[in-house]
Amino acid sequence: MTIIRLESVRGTKDILFEEAEVLRDIESKAQEIFTTYGYRQIRTPILESRDLFIRSLGNETEIVGKQMFELKRRGDDNDVLVLRPEATAGIVRAYLASSLYRKRKKSFIKLYYIGPMFRAERPQRGRLRQFHQIGIEAIGSDSAVLDAEVISLADSLLKALSISGYTIKINSLGCLKDKKRLSDELRRLLEDKLSLLCADCRDRYNRNVFRVLDCKNDACKNIVVKLKLSRKNYLCKGCLEHFESVLDNLKSIGTKCQEDVYLARGLDYYTRTVFEVVHPALGAQDALCAGGRYDNLTEQLGGEPVGAIGFAFGMERLASVKDSLSIAPSKNSVYIITLDKKAEREGFVLLHQLRENNIPCEFNFEDKSLKAQMRSANNLGVKSVILLGEDELKNNTVSFKNMRDGVQETIKREQIIDKVKNIT
Ligand code: AMP
Repeated sequence: MTIIRLESVRGTKDILFEEAEVLRDIESKAQEIFTTYGYRQIRTPILESRDLFIRSLGNETEIVGKQMFELKRRGDDNDVLVLRPEATAGIVRAYLASSLYRKRKKSFIKLYYIGPMFRAERPQRGRLRQFHQIGIEAIGSDSAVLDAEVISLADSLLKALSISGYTIKINSLGCLKDKKRLSDELRRLLEDKLSLLCADCRDRYNRNVFRVLDCKNDACKNIVVKLKLSRKNYLCKGCLEHFESVLDNLKSIGTKCQEDVYLARGLDYYTRTVFEVVHPALGAQDALCAGGRYDNLTEQLGGEPVGAIGFAFGMERLASVKDSLSIAPSKNSVYIITLDKKAEREGFVLLHQLRENNIPCEFNFEDKSLKAQMRSANNLGVKSVILLGEDELKNNTVSFKNMRDGVQETIKREQIIDKVKNIT
């Protein structure tokens, strides 16, 4: 018989206890804020067709080229499925497939999502093969006010999670024609520096030059920051005005952003506004959130062209910069100690009654001695202990110990719920 490996698959994680609670806290804060901003939840399948991502993200992107987990089904080579590497493409597909879109073509809709994403990356700090994203998509508007709302929403979420020390970087890639001008300009500026770029970037130069701007290699980064790029050289009048209006709207509500002309998201679907939230505590993989407009994606997937914008936060990265001490551990307030089988049965009834009264309580499930049960109660940090033994059962009482002052008293069985309620 082969031995099953017990560690989780490389690049994936078993998330337990405090770590899971931090993620739950992030989720509930995010849902609260998204709802305040008028976003409603969407859950799309984890399995999508490979073609959806080829069509949306582009063939020459890192994700499509190298990072998709593909699932081939026996006898069906044409329809290759993948574990979704990101959510936007699936959500736009769902939007186009929905009756909402079919009835009122360009209807405006605000959606949020939470869920696992999968990328076959080389696992390293901050880079998992299964990670979780929480994000939003606002589809059906090209208003610059919407861009400002979306960016300020990302900022509000970070503030609500008490995260500080981050920077919001913003840029505009312009419309498809502007993007073409920008890529031509990048190629022109990089042409005589090709031999100094890393091998990957030399390849990116031809396939998808925007990705050179994202390279983490120090030599490439040094070359990139010295490139004389100017939005005025590649943005058309409409896109320049749109970008200025986004900045102006952000300024009017005091959302601080840093303009960064070198910020270019490598995915094909991005147009106009792109932004990223970076945090120095994350190290090399310093992006907490990435987002932007994708005004041509609905058309690329066969629908009418509609303006749209969204962002995604990596939840594990959010958790790693969040002050975990701000999360209150769930505290059991009562521990029930039982001394024999009969008392165990009565203790179980009491446990049930306490829970019916919404009182968090714990019990001895491990056949422990009195001393060991007392130790468990101490470890859990409970406020009180209820002890049931032969005498208590005979007299229809319980022994009640207040763990704060150590005082122990005998209480009538029927009064115990009220007593515990008073102490919690
Ligand atoms: P992207 O979809 O690549 O624009 O990423 C959006 C956000 O998801 C990033 O800013 C990260 O916070 C997070 N993220 C992306 N890839 C990974 C990964 N492999 N492991 C952990 N988090 C990731």
